[in-house]
Amino acid sequence: MTTGFRSIPPVNELLADDRVAQLVLRHSRDAVVDLVRRRLDVVRTTIAGGAPAPDIDSIVDGIERECEERWRPWPSRVINATGVILHTNLGRAPLSDDAVRAMERAAVSYGDLEYDLASGKRGSRQEHVSRLVCEATGAEAAMVVNNNASAVMLGLAALATDRGVIISRGEAVEIGGGFRIPDVLKQSGADLVEVGTTNRTYAGDYEAAITDRTGAILAVHASNFKVVGFTHSPTIEELVDVGRRRNVPVLHDLGSGCLLPTARYGLAPEPMPQDSMRAGIDLGFFSGDKLLGGPQAGVIIGSRESVAIVSRHPLARAMRIDKINMAALAATLLHYIRGEAETTVPIWKMISMSSDAIKQKASLWADAAGGGATILESASAIGGGSLPGETLPTWVVSLPTEQAKTGAEGVARGLRESTPPVIARIEEDRVLVDPRTVLSDDEPALLEALKRVVGAEGSG
Ligand SMILES: *Cc1c(COP(=O)(O)O)cnc(C)c1O
Repeated sequence: MTTGFRSIPPVNELLADDRVAQLVLRHSRDAVVDLVRRRLDVVRTTIAGGAPAPDIDSIVDGIERECEERWRPWPSRVINATGVILHTNLGRAPLSDDAVRAMERAAVSYGDLEYDLASGKRGSRQEHVSRLVCEATGAEAAMVVNNNASAVMLGLAALATDRGVIISRGEAVEIGGGFRIPDVLKQSGADLVEVGTTNRTYAGDYEAAITDRTGAILAVHASNFKVVGFTHSPTIEELVDVGRRRNVPVLHDLGSGCLLPTARYGLAPEPMPQDSMRAGIDLGFFSGDKLLGGPQAGVIIGSRESVAIVSRHPLARAMRIDKINMAALAATLLHYIRGEAETTVPIWKMISMSSDAIKQKASLWADAAGGGATILESASAIGGGSLPGETLPTWVVSLPTEQAKTGAEGVARGLRESTPPVIARIEEDRVLVDPRTVLSDDEPALLEALKRVVGAEGSG
């Protein structure tokens, strides 16, 4: 034991090592000394645990590894080969070229974010982007906050604090990540008034629950689950009719912010902000980074009067969207306004990709990978709490796993250890690579990863 400890090199000796000296040149001496000390602590712990003392080379290996891991730019680029288009763990929607350029412009320079160039006076950061939201959705007024969870919370706080909010029992749901409608209501200071049953609720149930204390009717899109069978829920038009007659505002949490008709791609219909506005809702809320295909943001649409009340609420400042996301959102909305979203917004390019085009890619990739890779018919998912259970027909590359000692898990790990990491899907002990969600810039790197992993399996 003691001899083990005695063979640990002192900090100075490690700093004199060529490779460590390189790290000092690239980073600061203090930071590297800190890293060396941490590494030596780890070495001491392993020796205390009975391990033999490592030689200086392997200690330096550890220091280099730690440096790379701790100080690497983050988040790293990864290749999404899962076929899940809005993959929440992989950052939801990748952005269009225009949106990326807009973010960069907003980041590197000063801009007219809150400045009116015509008058030389102070302007509003909401003015420009809300005009674009109105043009894209047909809303009378709009504003933008940092995400949809904030948008819903702010809308409720502004219109219904200390008042009852009527919700169908089937819509008092959890969206994910701890966002539960009853809790959001509570935090906004409103009281939950549940009506109907889990599977069937009628317009008359809402109407019967209205009292002097009612602040709003809230419709919530059940984004991440489906109730099938003996079900009923009123249309937004019916709710607006009740609200108008009884003078109660109708709010709609749309979830995804889908501006293109999903039926065009063989998918189930997703509520569209345009339709809710046409129906006459007072306020609508949706996400920027789900089916809108933009940055994280929460969009609030509605009547001029209701949006004005929301924008004056003190919480609006606490939920303010930053200039970089605002820039990306404005650029994304312009794609819809110009009628080019299907060919410019990455998630819509993925959704609209034909099964034939995908099959062609999958065949090419399987051939290039060699070693028994084959193609299979499969299904891509939308993901991100949008269109639950809805899939798009696709073709995938299926990688051989029979020879791998560690099976499908081992092959998937091999892909994750590529540069950049490739995230694949495991299904029935097969590793599947779906071309639908692989960005074209990433194709060469993906092919390299496939060849490497399949080659390694073939020889193992
Ligand atoms: C996703 C979702 C939210 C939360 O939106 P974020 O932008 O992720 O904050 C709220 N309501 C519904 C119905 C959703 O689908």
